[in-house]
Amino acid sequence: MFRLSTIILIGCAAFLGNGSVSFASAGGKPNPCVEDPATDPGGGAVWVAYPVCEWVTVTITGPSSTQDGASAEFEVTVDPDDLSPTYKWSYTTPSGAGNLPTGNIFDDDTKVDPTVANAWWFASPDNKGTAAPTCDYTIKVDVTIDGKLASETANWNVFVTSDSEGRLGWVVRPRITGEPAYELYSSGGNDYYRIASGNGSLPRNTPANSDINYGVLDSGQWKNKTKKHEEEHVKQWSSGAWKNFFLVQAFRTRLNNVSTTYAGNSLGLRALELEVKSRISDFNSAETTKANNAGDREALARAAADSEPPLYDFSGQTN
Ligand SMILES: [Zn+2]
Repeated sequence: MFRLSTIILIGCAAFLGNGSVSFASAGGKPNPCVEDPATDPGGGAVWVAYPVCEWVTVTITGPSSTQDGASAEFEVTVDPDDLSPTYKWSYTTPSGAGNLPTGNIFDDDTKVDPTVANAWWFASPDNKGTAAPTCDYTIKVDVTIDGKLASETANWNVFVTSDSEGRLGWVVRPRITGEPAYELYSSGGNDYYRIASGNGSLPRNTPANSDINYGVLDSGQWKNKTKKHEEEHVKQWSSGAWKNFFLVQAFRTRLNNVSTTYAGNSLGLRALELEVKSRISDFNSAETTKANNAGDREALARAAADSEPPLYDFSGQTN
């Protein structure tokens, strides 16, 4: 939350015949009612001579940061609160920005507490590859009291993704997990552990569209583009050019040369399990390297989503 204050002087004196300053409704206040710097509370307070003959503070409250597609409520507080101000909210964006919101972003720009129903990310700079994933608005409110103007501004940024790594979306690539089946057998009067035939439980973990993770909001501008991008990755791993990486059978074949004479006790089984874990780790590393060398999956996913608005492309988006 931000909180900024401006204190302004709004003076409006009624001059009586003798030239002294007085006020028609400054009951109980010193007369003449003149600004007294000694009582300035600081923080940008403004002297208002009529109708309150007091220092007045204007403060904006609201979020400093909102995700694209989420709502945000702002409010201006005028102290003292027994005045009858009018309000006018507006905003500005940096020069050179693109994908700007159209028109008024507030539900009612004359309310004391307007809402922005759908925070809108704009591109600054207006460049496909270098637009920042967070944009900075300046929110402004003009408060008019007895014909005098007090203005206040606040910074507000709108960000595209809530992911701490800056990803708009991601899928976890396939990888072998689990373990094969083990069996105990006797040979020459001794018991041994070995890997049983078959694949046991060794899933490839192929991602599906339902496994896509999103850092962007459903209500935001980036959901459809991110969905297209990630679905392309799912396709790459499941039926596309990367479908033959991390295959269970390829890994299972690698286990054929694991020793078949681990001791037939709990220590032997434990040692065999550790060997398999090490083999899984090695296989996943080797397949990762091969898959990365097989082509630019990321460039292909970007291309698949390129025509989907917004027509920008964050370099930080991965997987
Ligand atoms: Zn990607």
